[in-house]
Amino acid sequence: MIQLKEIEKIYPSRKGTTSVSALTGVDLDIKAGEIFGIIGRSGAGKSTLLRLINGLETPTSGEVWVDGKEMSLLSEKELRHARTKIGIIFQHFNLLWSRTVWENVAFSLEVAGKSKAEIQGKVNELLERVGLSDRAHAYPSQLSGGQKQRVGIARALANNPTVLLCDEATSALDPETTASILQLLRDIHRDMGITMVLITHEMSVVRSICQRVAVMDDGYIIEEGKVSDVFNHP
Ligand code: ADP
Ligand code: ADP
Repeated sequence: MIQLKEIEKIYPSRKGTTSVSALTGVDLDIKAGEIFGIIGRSGAGKSTLLRLINGLETPTSGEVWVDGKEMSLLSEKELRHARTKIGIIFQHFNLLWSRTVWENVAFSLEVAGKSKAEIQGKVNELLERVGLSDRAHAYPSQLSGGQKQRVGIARALANNPTVLLCDEATSALDPETTASILQLLRDIHRDMGITMVLITHEMSVVRSICQRVAVMDDGYIIEEGKVSDVFNHP
């Protein structure tokens, strides 16, 4: 589903800064339907890797394949379409603060040019899916952190993506809320068979939900494999 081949990413130097080698020799093969974790401390290159997968960044060299397509070969239009098939949720939720829960979820469907009737049905279905039907008309500021992330998840699923990217999705949440969000992600994975990529610095998150994991350090993948193998060395 997602393949990275010999990826190198160098952020060029700007005035007064030296260039940064963010990723070096990164190879990754994430299968359709798996929950894949990418773990590493701050600065390891995790976000850069995620931005390559959803086409927000281009590699300095190497290839990024998503769903059978090499990202750099896509036209603007194809790239826009490919990106609607990649949902993403964020640590700080990135909601629109002046819009209600309902409007936040509807927004990504409006952008995709869906009809009013379609939007109506889909938003209600998504809010039910994430357990927020009764908060449809609340504003994000009236929600708990866990509820905000549920809105983020509903929004990310709006266009029936084949991939869900989770960028430190539980890092701003307390342990109990984290557990409930991870359970929701498990349920969604079970029901939709969607491929999930989670980046995190928390080993407990990887242990609790991921099947395979890549460990990153300083731009390199230093270890990769089944979670049980990687974390349970003798
Ligand atoms: P992580 O998500 O694991 O914290 P990042 O991918 O954000 O790692 O960062 C990897 C390295 O690339 C870091 O040294 C960071 O400072 C650098 N970096 C990230 N984004 C940029 C950017 N837009 N311009 C320059 N350097 C960047
Ligand atoms: P966190 O969970 O990290 O505390 P929040 O969800 O509270 O994050 O906020 C994320 C960002 O949105 C912050 O920069 C915050 O200042 C801003 N923000 C939060 N609530 C509102 C609001 N009602 N209107 C405008 N901005 C807000």
